Amino acid sequence: MHHDRKQDLSKSFISHAPGYWADQGVTAEEWNDYTWQLKNRITSLPQLEQHLNLSDEERNGVLLSGTKLAMAITPHFFNLIDRDDPNCPIRRQVIPRIEETWTDDYEMADPCGEDSHMPVPGLVHRYPDRVLFLVTDRCASYCRYCTRSRVVSGVGEQGLDTDYEAAFRYLEEHTEVRDVLLSGGDPLLFSDSKLEKILSRLRSIEHIEFLRIGSRIPLFLPQRITPELCAMLQKYHPLFLSVHANHPRELTVESKAGLERLANAGIPLGNQSVLLRGVNDDIETMETLVHKLLMCRVRPYYLYQMDLIRGSGHLRTSVAKGIELIEQLRGHTTGYAVPQYVIDAPGGGGKVPVNPDYVIQKNEERVLVKNYEGKVFEYPEPPVPVEAPLEPAAHLAG
Ligand SMILES: *Cc1c(COP(=O)(O)O)cnc(C)c1O
Repeated sequence: MHHDRKQDLSKSFISHAPGYWADQGVTAEEWNDYTWQLKNRITSLPQLEQHLNLSDEERNGVLLSGTKLAMAITPHFFNLIDRDDPNCPIRRQVIPRIEETWTDDYEMADPCGEDSHMPVPGLVHRYPDRVLFLVTDRCASYCRYCTRSRVVSGVGEQGLDTDYEAAFRYLEEHTEVRDVLLSGGDPLLFSDSKLEKILSRLRSIEHIEFLRIGSRIPLFLPQRITPELCAMLQKYHPLFLSVHANHPRELTVESKAGLERLANAGIPLGNQSVLLRGVNDDIETMETLVHKLLMCRVRPYYLYQMDLIRGSGHLRTSVAKGIELIEQLRGHTTGYAVPQYVIDAPGGGGKVPVNPDYVIQKNEERVLVKNYEGKVFEYPEPPVPVEAPLEPAAHLAG
């Protein structure tokens, strides 16, 4: 289970199975069965200590997680943890730490102001033409920086009381909604038939043009991406899927195969990463991540500045660093590999793009731009149009 940095930063796809389960007599059939993966998730301190030497910060974090955001890690994802690296980028994402109980004044339980934009429980309608539909509060594994930890995993301070019927009625009445994004929690944890009920109901609403699903299952539990699931999903096109990968090690042989099955079902794939301190806030890691995503036919979509979620300060990186990373990608590699960096405005302003400044000066006559190498170029603006004459020119007047 040794991960060196060089290996992570090569673009190769590695299978880490059976890893920590090597001497536990698990068959390939069990391993590849997502129900086995879910049943055998690491959810307790003794299970964790069987495999890893924990620091005091981690041990105390695990003990407290039961009242905040539960711990759960699928065997597939757990295998990506490097036992010998206390700063392992996978470990930091899924193993609780005591720092989660430290909060700053500006941190919030609902950093994106979702609760105040819910016309119906479970339906967030912030933007004019699209809604976020929170269909479940469960995930295959829990990210320690979860923006929805107040409602996710079943142990937080609030419950998620999605009212499906009221949500469908709201969507039927609101003809301006052309795009529904299913999230949670992770919608792909639902059985095929339960998910199909939701998708077919949404498809029966004429003004809904396209459907989207946000899911981390292709990374946490790629065994769930069965041919049957893909066959069901492709009946509901146009359907897009956004995944959430933060570190190149998450793109394993199994994840790549799952993503390929989804892409072969005609589902356009995007990725939403969160900028995380010590996980992906250096250019080598970020560049390897976006290139491996393209090799899995996933287009990097958003890079999120971390929301001001309570107890996430130990994972937060500066906005200046985020801008610098985008500057180091843009132009140095294809635009397909460059995500849009955004801040989801604290309190509920929605996603705001944050970009390096490439326009260094602009007036009515010209724009001065800077390219990826820092070279400056001038682009002349078109002349200000003169008022069109009311009468045709004399030679045309006949
Ligand atoms: C992110 C988000 C969406 C989708 O935004 P896109 O930019 O269309 O991907 C919709 N609603 C809410 C509340 C969101 O947070």
